[in-house]
Amino acid sequence: MIQGLMQQQPLMISSIIEFAERWYPDVEVVSRTVEGPIHRCTYKELGKRARRLADSLKSLGISAGDSVGTLAWNGYRHLELYYGVSGSGAVLHTVNPRLFSEQLSYVINHANDKVMFADLTFVPLLEALADQLPNIEHYVIMTDREHMPETTLNSVICYEDLIKSGDPDYQWPVFDENSASSICYTSGTTGNPKGVVYSHRSTLIHTIASSIPNGLNLSGSDSVLLVVPQFHVNSWGVSYAAPMNGCKLVLPGPAMDGSSIHDLLESEKCTLSLAVPTIWMMLTGFLRESGKKLPHMKRVVIGGSAVPEAMIRCFEQEYDVQVIHAWGMTETSPLGTLNFLMPHLQELDYEAQMPIKLTQGKSIFGVDIRIVDDNNNPLAHDGIAFGRLQAKGHWVTSGYLGDEDNKAVGSDGWFDTGDVATINPDGYMMITDRTKDVIKSGGEWISSIEIENLAVGHPAIAEAAVIAIPHPKWDERPLVVAVIADGQEIDKTKLLSHLAESLAKWQIPDDVVFVDELPHGATGKLNKLKLREDFSDYKFPTT
Ligand code: ADP
Repeated sequence: MIQGLMQQQPLMISSIIEFAERWYPDVEVVSRTVEGPIHRCTYKELGKRARRLADSLKSLGISAGDSVGTLAWNGYRHLELYYGVSGSGAVLHTVNPRLFSEQLSYVINHANDKVMFADLTFVPLLEALADQLPNIEHYVIMTDREHMPETTLNSVICYEDLIKSGDPDYQWPVFDENSASSICYTSGTTGNPKGVVYSHRSTLIHTIASSIPNGLNLSGSDSVLLVVPQFHVNSWGVSYAAPMNGCKLVLPGPAMDGSSIHDLLESEKCTLSLAVPTIWMMLTGFLRESGKKLPHMKRVVIGGSAVPEAMIRCFEQEYDVQVIHAWGMTETSPLGTLNFLMPHLQELDYEAQMPIKLTQGKSIFGVDIRIVDDNNNPLAHDGIAFGRLQAKGHWVTSGYLGDEDNKAVGSDGWFDTGDVATINPDGYMMITDRTKDVIKSGGEWISSIEIENLAVGHPAIAEAAVIAIPHPKWDERPLVVAVIADGQEIDKTKLLSHLAESLAKWQIPDDVVFVDELPHGATGKLNKLKLREDFSDYKFPTT
């Protein structure tokens, strides 16, 4: 072998902000603050503040490898922490404040966070939890002196006071690119949350790959409204990808209702935004009521759960905004697949494109996927065979924090996602269920997601969940639990005959129960575990 003669540089997260500071110094980061007003700064200013922060971490006793927690909305100070903490060699643990309180103390203790940075909003939450957080040495409140709250927390520091003493010319250290940079916990819908530990290397490669045209297609012409929380899977990587591509970055703080989101999309001339379907339901509802438009928006990235067909049609046909449907998870950093139409599919008419648009899309370079049966045999890419979805690649987890047995990844190196999917001959992957949610009826699998999508396709249904109920003859049969849309009327017979139009006879649910609301978890997704508990005594009328 002959060695290549190119320079070796460790892939460092700090290099992203250093680049933006130097080459896109005047590009803005705009934040709606917890205190109220809109805050504006540039990458040059933000880079300096991230250096000050990195330098001042020493005064808190933080050194390389120590874990630093955040409980914060999307904003410029949280972005500074993304760079200041990881860039200094410490590890950023972005805590999801929507976890239940036992899960919050579990993840903060499990990650061994030594310092907690928190927005004003979360001070009461921390006060209630502080007794159970023995390892936290300091609480840094992410505000200025003027807004510092009265609090019962010990060792409280004001963020602006802290960074004032830091060196704005701090030099970012260079170290092993495989060092941990950040930790995110899965939302733990089964058992305790599990810690996924990203490295500088995995983050840099994910950021570069996610920017390409078949990824998020980012460029310096974009103004990006980042609605995906910075506490959810590294904000889908966009807190890194935006500065890397010189994009203007708009951070909405705690206000995620339709009107507040629309205000920012309009005032900051946003061309791209990213969020889960629930957020877009609120926005499209607001647009319909107010008659407002989306004049600057070109693309919207939707993931985290399946995009309803009505949402794709609404964005594309009513507002001329391209929908990019994406799939991923905490364990995949998160990007795994994105939906872009290949040229022969672009030639089809819109109706014929729709079944493809509803899929989760194709793998991007850097992460490979496959579907397998229960014996780990790969299944055909025929769009019909469905099996366990597995992933492998540069930014896929190799094991959870503290899990010495390393149960996450099989001996062949494939990570089992817990999703069930098909892959069609063009490589478009379609999630048909979570392994634990699929309904096993008489040896056949019934997709709960397929029935839910059909149910919400009825105009009188606002939200629906389908769960398995034990059945003496068939093992399990599907039950629909649905919420009726405001001002609409529907009964069980009508909903079942609507479903019967698109389902085989044996797939039609055995019953429907209407409820006022469905339970949701920390990331806004349906909490089917809770629903199954709520319906544990339920019996079908016929059994
Ligand atoms: P958590 O595991 O904390 O709920 P994740 O973001 O890691 O949060 O969730 C990952 C799971 O979300 C995936 O395994 C998949 O089941 C679901 N998911 C993500 N994106 C999509 C999508 N576009 N369509 C359907 N399901 C999705």
